[in-house]
Amino acid sequence: MTTDFENSLEYARRLDQADPLCHFRKQFIFPQHEGKDTLYFCGNSLGLQPVAVRQALIAELDQWAEFGVEGHFRGDKPWMYYHKFLAESSARLVGASPEEVVVMNTLTTNLHLMMVSFYRPSKTRYKILMEAGAFPSDQYAMETQAIWHGFNPDDAVIEIEPRPGEDCLRTEDIIQVIHQHGEQVAIVMFSGVNYYTGQFFDIPAITRAAHAVGAFAGFDLAHTAGNLPLQLHDWQVDFAVWCSYKYLNSGPGGPSGVFVHQKHGNAPEIPRFGGWWGHDESERFLMKKGFKPMPGAPGWQLSNAQIFSCAAHLASLKIFDQAGMEALRKKSMQLTAFLEFILTSAGSHGHEFQIITPAEPSARGCQLSILTGSSGKDLFEYLNQNGVIADWREPNVIRLAPVPLYNSFEDVWQLGKLIEAYNNRH
Ligand SMILES: *Cc1c(COP(=O)(O)O)cnc(C)c1O
Repeated sequence: MTTDFENSLEYARRLDQADPLCHFRKQFIFPQHEGKDTLYFCGNSLGLQPVAVRQALIAELDQWAEFGVEGHFRGDKPWMYYHKFLAESSARLVGASPEEVVVMNTLTTNLHLMMVSFYRPSKTRYKILMEAGAFPSDQYAMETQAIWHGFNPDDAVIEIEPRPGEDCLRTEDIIQVIHQHGEQVAIVMFSGVNYYTGQFFDIPAITRAAHAVGAFAGFDLAHTAGNLPLQLHDWQVDFAVWCSYKYLNSGPGGPSGVFVHQKHGNAPEIPRFGGWWGHDESERFLMKKGFKPMPGAPGWQLSNAQIFSCAAHLASLKIFDQAGMEALRKKSMQLTAFLEFILTSAGSHGHEFQIITPAEPSARGCQLSILTGSSGKDLFEYLNQNGVIADWREPNVIRLAPVPLYNSFEDVWQLGKLIEAYNNRH
């Protein structure tokens, strides 16, 4: 991988010409600004619409129109089996077997469903370890889980903080805290990539440490799925959840993915909340008493699938199958390194501008988070007025995610040019 970059439009265009994935950009719809594509760096928040989604939705409307209720069993994608159509691509994305994954509900709902099965505290083993500064929904979920089981969250939820003066966590410190709480730890619940700093945690090392003290290891992969290659099965992760509308481009409120490791998936005795869609498929419509979960992650389903959002997700997953996570990661590392280079050259005019995302490529995905000074909001608004879609996180962080499926090296260069223009004016 080259990191010996040049700051010029010709150079950025040369990188685009050499990019084997550059044609995927045409499969996405860019919001417009003054008649041109916006510089869209917000795929960490809501991925762009794949062109194919519209047709995929129309196909399900047609199925409904043509067959009515019989659409559950007829046509080339009968709704009854819809979760199966999503399983193989989802499994590839996270490094699992198709039985270990299921697409259902939304992320926070699934996080609670997983906690039902994997957070079964006792008087002595009841602590939840998580990173400080986790996404608020995860914080609320852990807090209310502790309360639900009769614990005081101030005691039961342990947040692991970075060292003073540091923005990111060191793996050795995470492992040390896990060992420090030892047999009191019921579960270690981390994100894969922290939404704020962009730090990619060492999932295998955290999982090993959790298991060493007899705890489960669960991960929220909202910012990780579709961003970094994963090997959840081999890493022995107990469970994971993710959403499909960020890097997976499946549209607002899109469905969530769940991973349950095979060693748990095939244990019907694991407590869980049941519903008819998780019940043994051959008997689902017999309406008999006695819940018998399907094997694997599908045995955690409650309801029948939300076909329209699953159809959008399926169309989007096909693009990941075509591109492949390894190739995406390869481009992503170069694209993010180029953004880092461009920001560093553009930011050297005296404005406060610090990248808090780890510099080490193995400890980050595509996102870079920039801690700005007092004029940060002003810069952010200037960029926005000039056709850049990025996002702002209080108190003063700009998050930029160059997404390898649809962002180009030229996008990054154009962003740098705008930042330089801003710096020169102020
Ligand atoms: C985006 C995100 C969520 C969103 O949760 P929903 O239930 O899909 O609304 C939750 N957790 C993390 C870490 C996220 O990044």
